[in-house]
Order: sequence, then structure tokens, then C-alpha cells
Amino acid sequence: MKRIDAINEIVSKTKATDALLVANIGIPCKELHHVCDMPNNFYMLGSMGLASSIGLGLALSRPDKKVITIDGDGSVLMNMGTLATIASVQPENYLLVIVDNRAYGSTGNQPTATSKNTDLAEVAKGAGNNEVYEVDTSETLRETLSSVDNGIIVVKAEPGNTDAPVIGMSPETIIKRFMDISAL
Ligand SMILES: [Mg+2]
Repeated sequence: MKRIDAINEIVSKTKATDALLVANIGIPCKELHHVCDMPNNFYMLGSMGLASSIGLGLALSRPDKKVITIDGDGSVLMNMGTLATIASVQPENYLLVIVDNRAYGSTGNQPTATSKNTDLAEVAKGAGNNEVYEVDTSETLRETLSSVDNGIIVVKAEPGNTDAPVIGMSPETIIKRFMDISAL
């Protein structure tokens, strides 16, 4: 499976649960926008590494809402401390999905440390997270998403990007739209 397949499954989960969805910078945002643009989506246009932290803050500030973050291996490797921060609180309404395609997909698929020896599911467990899942097919991701609303899912994926177009909205429009829907 590729990132786009994971995004399709996550979008279905988001719609079914009316979750707030944070997507990390670069092609993940473009692919999410291409698959399904909706006000629940928060597209990050900067701040590489911080999608999981923003999602965590959102989950803590809105315990009545389900929050999902789509992150990548490169971004989590850049901000690995996020796994310990999440472990220190483990909100019941927060689900972090790390699409681990073993590459910096948005900059040309240069290999990341997960293409060698680093195992992000083990890092997440070692950081103290109690709910960590690992999947490697669309079917197992769908099954896991159907039964899990919190914790961390590491999706083992193949590198590869679609040619999803650039998001046409301004940052101001993205944040205003998202704030309006997340305030409900
Ligand atoms: Mg990657």
C-alpha cells in the first residue's frame, strides 16, 4: 500500500466519526485535499514535525471531539519527543496515524532511518504509549481504524506519491474554516 491508500481509509474514519483531522506538511496535505477536501481537515503548510503535537493540543483542548493526525516517518523522526509527550497524557480522543513509507516523500523519496534500523512502533511503545498498532495493508488498517479511537497506528507503506495538485486555499482560509468547524 501507498500513502494515498492509507489516506483513503483515514478519510472514511474521519467522516464516520466527525473527527478533526490534522495532516502533516507536503504531499500528505495535497493528497488528503485531493481525496476529500472538507472543513474538518487542517492542512499544515509549514512546521515540519509538529502535526502530531498540534493534534495532541487539539485533542486536549477539545475532549468532546475525536482528533486524528496523519503524520509521516520523516516528520516523527524529526520530532521524536512527540511520542513521549503523547505517552505522558494519552488522551482517549487522540489517534496518531504514522504513514511509514521509509522515505522523505515530499522531497524526493530520500530514505529515512526507518529504511534501516529504526522501528517507530517500538519507539512509540518504549516512549510509554500503551496503545500501539502496526499494519501493512489497507484491509488491516481499515479493521484497526474500525475498532480504535486512540493511540498510535504505524502504517508500513511503500514510497510513492500521487500527482495531487497544490492546495489553492490561502493559509488564512484554511485556519478560519477549520476554526469555525472545530468550535462547533
Ligand atoms: Mg515518509
